Formats: sequence, C-alpha cells, structure tokens
Amino acid sequence: MSKNTVITGMQVDDVRFPTSASLAGSDAMNSEPDYSAAYLTLTTTSESLVGNGLTFTIGRGTQLCAEAARCLETMVVGRSLGEIIDDMAGFWRSLVGESQLRWLGPEKGVVHLAAAAVLNAIWDLWARHEGKPVWRLVADFTPEEFVSTIDFRHMHDVLDEEEALSILRAAQQGKAERIETLLKRGYPAYTTSVGWLGYSDDKLRTLCKEAVADGWEAIKLKVGKSLDDDRRRLMIARETVGPDVEIMIDANQVWEVHEAIEWVSALAEFDPIWIEEPTSPDDILGHAKIKQALSGRTGVATGEHCHNRIMFKQFLEAGAIDFVQLDGCRLAGLNEVLAVLLLAAKFDKPVCPHAGGVGLCEYAQHYSMIDYVAVSGATERRRTEHAGALHEHFETPITVKNGRYMAPTEPGFSAVIKPQSLETFRFPDGTYWQSRTAGRHLAGEG
Ligand SMILES: [Mg+2]
Repeated sequence: MSKNTVITGMQVDDVRFPTSASLAGSDAMNSEPDYSAAYLTLTTTSESLVGNGLTFTIGRGTQLCAEAARCLETMVVGRSLGEIIDDMAGFWRSLVGESQLRWLGPEKGVVHLAAAAVLNAIWDLWARHEGKPVWRLVADFTPEEFVSTIDFRHMHDVLDEEEALSILRAAQQGKAERIETLLKRGYPAYTTSVGWLGYSDDKLRTLCKEAVADGWEAIKLKVGKSLDDDRRRLMIARETVGPDVEIMIDANQVWEVHEAIEWVSALAEFDPIWIEEPTSPDDILGHAKIKQALSGRTGVATGEHCHNRIMFKQFLEAGAIDFVQLDGCRLAGLNEVLAVLLLAAKFDKPVCPHAGGVGLCEYAQHYSMIDYVAVSGATERRRTEHAGALHEHFETPITVKNGRYMAPTEPGFSAVIKPQSLETFRFPDGTYWQSRTAGRHLAGEG
C-alpha cells in the first residue's frame, strides 16, 4: 500500500433513517427530520484501502447532495492519494472553487455540503493509509504540515499563514502530555438527547435523571416554540439535574433579534450557559446585538449553519459569538474546520462542535481532540455535542464514558456505515423504504 494508490471509483448512496417517527431530532425549526446522509465510498487500486465520507442532511435534500457529489467525481477519480495529500490546500480549492459549480454558492449550500462528503472521505483514506485515527494524524503534523492543508483565501486580513504557524508552534509545548491525558480521560461533552422539543415533560424528566446518573455534567434543551413551555421545561430540567450541571438552550433560528433578547432574558433565571442559534445563522450583526443585550449572563453560540470560514471570520471579528459551533459537514470538510479552529484560537473563543445528526458525533470528536492537542491546547469552556441516536449503524461508533468522548484508536474518521444498515436504509431501494412504500400502497395511500 503506497501513496501511489489511485482512486478508482466513487459510489454515492442516499441514506435516510426514519427518525421523524420518534421525534428524536425535533426542534423549533425542524419538527420532523429524518436524519440522513449523502454517503461516499472511494475505492482504490489497493483492495484493502477504501475511504468513506458523509455529509449530514435531514431527509429529502439528500437527493440533491448526492447528485452534487456525483458532479465532483471527475475531480477525484483517477487521481493518486499521493498527489492529493501532497497539496491538500490545492486539492481543496480545486473542489470548492471549480468555476461552474462554484456559481451555485460560492462556498455554501448543496455543493459545499457535497464537497464536505468528498473531503471527509479523502481524510478517511489518508488516515487509513497511515494507520491512524484522523485526530492523531493531524496531531502528529508539524505546524508547517498543518498549515499546508488550509486554503487561506479571503482570510488574510484577519489570519495569515505566518500567524497560523505561530499559534501552532506555541501549541507544540505540552502536546505529548495532552495526548496522554486525552487517551486516559477522554474529552468533555454535553448531551442533546434529553431535550428534543417533541418530548413530553415526563420523558424530559426521566432523561434528565438518567443523564445525571450516567455522569453527564452538561445537557441541552430545545426551546423557541412557546415561552410558557420553555419556562416549564427548563424548571423541570433545572430541578432534576441540580444547580451544578450546565444547561444549554437551542432555538434553531426561530426568533427575530428583539424576540431572542426578550425570550432568553425571560429564561435567564435557569442559568443557561448559552443560547444557540437565536436568529438567522447569516445575521452576524444581529448576533452581536443579542450578545451585547444579554451582556454575558447567557452566552451566544452558533455555527452549525455557518457555511464557511469567511462567515466565522466575521462572527469572531465582530465579537458576535461566545462559542464556536463549527460543523465539518457544513464547512467543506476537515480542511476548513482546521482553518476555523485557528480563527477561534486567535480570538480565544472556545470551539464546541455541532454534532446533533447522524455521523456528526463520529466526526466532531476528532475536531475537538485536534483543537485540544494541536491548536488551543485547552478544554476549559469547551464541550463537544453528543446525541445518542443511530450510532449502532457505524462500524466504529463513538465511545462515551462519564459524559466524555473517549479518543478513537481505530484508523480513519470513524464514520463507516455498516453494510447491513446501508442495505436497509438506502433511499429509495433499501428494504426499510421498500416495505414502507408497499405498506402505503396496501393502505390505499398511493
Ligand atoms: Mg443546534
């Protein structure tokens, strides 16, 4: 197996899990999501070396992401792994900057999501080639190697290669000890699984109780549909978990700016540490107003819909957020995640990656571990999101102990879907979707 290995094929699957049936994943904006993924398999001239990557969606849009990924195929298939990883920043730009497809963004939306799936598969391939988990592959980079994977275009006014190198060189100190700590103790997390909006009060109470018993020190609740409901739910949660467990709240973009300020102020007595996505994810100045009005009592978090490093650059430079919730399926893969980790380190803002979605926890743990070991060198104020559903569909799912992600040790990016799960949930020909269609026909629904 060598870097001369050539990528010979790209298979794209549309995989959808029927989560809308249980309301796991429900929030104020997305009442019935079917957690889904456009899922890529890259085959190579080495039979034992395959790369998998995905981008997360919530149902019907997966068809578009899958088709967009197919449009990127000619830029990947036929190339050697060596030529790609010798110029990762150049490869990244070739995918993201391809003129005819770039028109659809630029650097946002369906094409960017599809590019993420391709890049995640390339990083999986690279890490497997090196026999390391992705976090370790990157942690072992020199600062120069790290910087060489990033396209700094449109970032230079705030962060250039030289400053990035100095951040990374400073983080070299103590790196070996941090790797040891990580392998022993894992990385701090919080769970979103207790507080989906569609859950009853009883279910919320039971799940909060279980979360504390399982060692979680931080939980998140969805809010934003009814203030009375939110106050009641937060009271239940606070009473159940006690004063020492952190509570986050997440509005999934539903409010106007003034509404966000009023609503969150009315929930402040329950001491939420952050309000997540209070308004439109594109409204940088609106977030700044909310942050200023809440004056630190409740922090402002956003990022799961922040579609590129340029947006994060502005959120950070404008002082509009307290927590950086990057997502490597929304950003174009790990390359752009690394760019945002550096921006966050420059502005000394904690990165708490978004992970509510299928496969996202599997990826997010790597981002946080890279941040801790190689970039910020810290875990204070940092927690990676955790959601408990759908991990059984992965070959090497996350391991959580006492509310912490344990560091993956298997080679790759941890998001390989089991063949049986693909056969069952591939849309529309998987056995689950076929039987559902047959059931509808029997019931006369057409
Ligand atoms: Mg969220």
